[in-house]
Amino acid sequence: MFSKIVIANRGEIALRILRACREMGIKTVAVHSAADRDLKHVRLADESVCIGPSPSADSYLNIPALISAAEVTDAEAIHPGYGFLSENADFAERCESSGFTFIGPRSDTIRLMGDKVSAIRAMKESGVPCVPGSGGPLGDDPDENIRIARDIGYPVIIKAAGGGGGRGMRVVRSEAALLNAISLTRSEALTAFGNDSVYMEKFLENPRHVEFQVLADSHGNAIHLGERDCSMQRRHQKVVEEAPAPGISAELRATMGERCAEACRKIDYLGAGTFEFLYENGEFYFIEMNTRLQVEHPVTEMVTGVDLVKEQIRIAAGEALSYTQDDIVIRGHAVECRINAEDAKTFMPSPGKIEQFHAPGGPGIRVESHIYNGYVVPPYYDSMIGKLIAWGENRDSALARMRTALSEIVIEGIKTNIALHEDIMRDTGFQAGGTNIHYLEKKLEL
Ligand code: ADP
Repeated sequence: MFSKIVIANRGEIALRILRACREMGIKTVAVHSAADRDLKHVRLADESVCIGPSPSADSYLNIPALISAAEVTDAEAIHPGYGFLSENADFAERCESSGFTFIGPRSDTIRLMGDKVSAIRAMKESGVPCVPGSGGPLGDDPDENIRIARDIGYPVIIKAAGGGGGRGMRVVRSEAALLNAISLTRSEALTAFGNDSVYMEKFLENPRHVEFQVLADSHGNAIHLGERDCSMQRRHQKVVEEAPAPGISAELRATMGERCAEACRKIDYLGAGTFEFLYENGEFYFIEMNTRLQVEHPVTEMVTGVDLVKEQIRIAAGEALSYTQDDIVIRGHAVECRINAEDAKTFMPSPGKIEQFHAPGGPGIRVESHIYNGYVVPPYYDSMIGKLIAWGENRDSALARMRTALSEIVIEGIKTNIALHEDIMRDTGFQAGGTNIHYLEKKLEL
C-alpha cells in the first residue's frame, strides 16, 4: 500500500479523499492555490504545498507544479478527484512517466473514452447499447450526411467528439437545418476543444439520465454497483441524484450492470468508472463514460456500503477488489442534494464569508462539505460548497430525512440553493419518481 498520496483537488472532494487516506493509514499532501490556504483539508493534511496563484489554470491545472509537489514531498501516488485534471490523459501519462501512480485508469484508457466517437465504438464492440447514430465521425460529403440523418430519423443531435460539460451539441429537427448545424458545431468544436470531429445521434426527446457505477482491478475482475438516477438537472448540470433509480427492476439492473462490467473487462479498465446512459421507454442508450470518481458517488456508497475512494486507492496499489459481484447488495435508498453558493432563484454565484454554519444530523444523514464558520468561499472555482446525502430503508423515508435535514441546515453570510432543494423535495412529480432530464428546467420556467 502507498505511504503518501498527493490530493490534486480542492473543496469537499479533497476532504473526502483525505478522510479515506487517514482511515487507511496513508499520509496526505494537500496541494492548493494561493486562494485556498484555509481549506479544511489543507489544515488537516500531513503536508501542504502551494502550487500557484488563484486561477485554476495556474494552480489546479498546472501539471508541472503538481508533479514537482509530488517530487518534493516524496509521495507515491496522486488522486485527481473529479473535474480539473481527473480526465486528462496527458496528466495521467505525466504521472506514470514521472514514476507516480495516477489513481485512476491508464492514460490510454482515458484517451479512448475521452473521445466520444472512439468511446461509442468501443462500447458497441463490447455489447453496450448505444444511441442510434452515425457510428463514427461525419465526413464532408453533404449528401452522405443528409442520408445518415434520414436513416437515423429526425430529430438528430450533432455532437463534438471532444465535447464535455454539456457543450458542443446542437439539435436538428429538419433536413433544411442539417448542413448548417454540422458546420456550426464543427467550427465551435474546433475553437472550444481543438478538435473539429463531430458525429450524429438520434435525439431522444424525454429521456432520464441513469448511470452505472463500476469498479475494475488489475487482476481482471470487474463489478458493477448498481445505478444512479441523475435526471434532476439544470443546463446539463446535475442538481439532485439518487440510488437506485426509481422503476428499474433488479433483473434489468443485473443485465445492464453486467454489460458494463463486461465492457470493463474487454477494454482492460482500471479503477472506478461510470457508464452514463439515457433511459427512455425501458431502453438504455450509452452516451459517455466518466473515467473518474463522480460527485454523486456517495449515494452508491450509502446503498451498497462500499467505500469507493478506498477501493480506488486499493486498486491503484495493485490489490484485488475487496468484493465480488455477489457481495454487492442494494439496501434502501439514498438521495443527494448539491449545495451551491448561489442564489436559489437567479443562480448567480454568491461567494463570500460564511458567518454561521450548522450541519444537520440524525439517522441516515451524511454531510460532505469543507465549509466551516468563518470560511470564505473564493470566487474562482465551482460554486458547489457541499453535498447533503440522506439514506432511508425506502425512497419515501430517504426523502423525508432529506426534508428534515434541509430544514435544519443553517448557512449564513452567503446565498445558497437550499430553498431550491426544499422545493424539489416537496415536488409531487419528483416524489412520484422517474422524472425526465427536462423536468427541473420546465418547473423553473413556471
Ligand atoms: P457532456 O460530456 O458534455 O456532458 P453528454 O454526451 O454526456 O455530454 O451529454 C450531455 C447531456 O446532453 C445529456 O445528459 C443529455 O441531457 C443531452 N444529450 C446528449 N445526447 C443526447 C441525445 N442523443 N438525445 C437527447 N439528449 C442528449
